[in-house]
Amino acid sequence: MNTASEHFSLTELAEGVFAAIATEAGGAFSNAGIIDLGDQTLVFDTMNTPLAAKDLKQVAEELTGRHISYIVNSHWHSDHWMGNQVFPKSTMIFSTPETLEFMISELDEIHQSQSNHSNFRSLIETYEKLYNETKDESHKKNISDMISRWKFELDALPELNPRLPNMTFDSKITFHGKNRVAELFASGKGHTISDVFLALPEDQIVFWGDLGFFQCQPFIGSCDLEGWKLKILSMTNSLFKHFVPGHGPLGNQSDLHLEHQYMVTLEEKVREAFQGGMTVEDALSKISLPEPFNQWVAASARRFEANVRFLFQYFDDRM
Ligand SMILES: [Zn+2]
Repeated sequence: MNTASEHFSLTELAEGVFAAIATEAGGAFSNAGIIDLGDQTLVFDTMNTPLAAKDLKQVAEELTGRHISYIVNSHWHSDHWMGNQVFPKSTMIFSTPETLEFMISELDEIHQSQSNHSNFRSLIETYEKLYNETKDESHKKNISDMISRWKFELDALPELNPRLPNMTFDSKITFHGKNRVAELFASGKGHTISDVFLALPEDQIVFWGDLGFFQCQPFIGSCDLEGWKLKILSMTNSLFKHFVPGHGPLGNQSDLHLEHQYMVTLEEKVREAFQGGMTVEDALSKISLPEPFNQWVAASARRFEANVRFLFQYFDDRM
């Protein structure tokens, strides 16, 4: 692995296949992939800011010796496609139609945040205070990394000019490169209303997008939980060995199992609390998760709170 940029490190998984793993404090926030098909280059996701994507583009061009032919946007969350704008107009950008629709509906909010930074600035100030009040060194590190990522995001706002996909597909595309075949699957509802992943069968590698959060808590706030769990389980029965998640380090089948186990465990605990008549606030203070999930929770109390609140609402809607 080498540190290709302050925003990501780079690992070559097979000849011409690279995972760009976001650094904790950089402007990428999410992971990406660079795939040399032999005569064309494909980039899977473009990170959270144009600044990080400029480095991704430069590295991809240097590694493959050519411009990028294709970009895939795995889903509509902006931390996976705000870098689209730095790639040349000739680069084709793929997503599903549902993802494109959600991206379009996000544009207003993106433009609003460009004209009004005050919420963002006050969030950063709140966490700067929290940083000063926190004694525990690992908590301090988590907070300072988060503040650093937000500052990259804030700095990116003036130059943001979100570029949408210009090619949509419904089920599957197969790229037949000179050196390898890459299969892009629209997997339906999971982490979001529509997620895609890219499989390289000969290399046993999957770019899993945000269907994968490894060694950290998945963000479940816009998911279809049943669909997501099923997708993970179906992949655990596959022959694929190497998984590049949207968030967290590179992983394997056991990371898929752990991710699934986090969801099942949290779901069970919140269901118990809900059915036992607890308020969401009670649940937040009383629910604790076993190892290793308790360490994941310690690394992001905000994510834990969001997930518990989402599940409470989920059970409430079904009563
Ligand atoms: Zn996401």
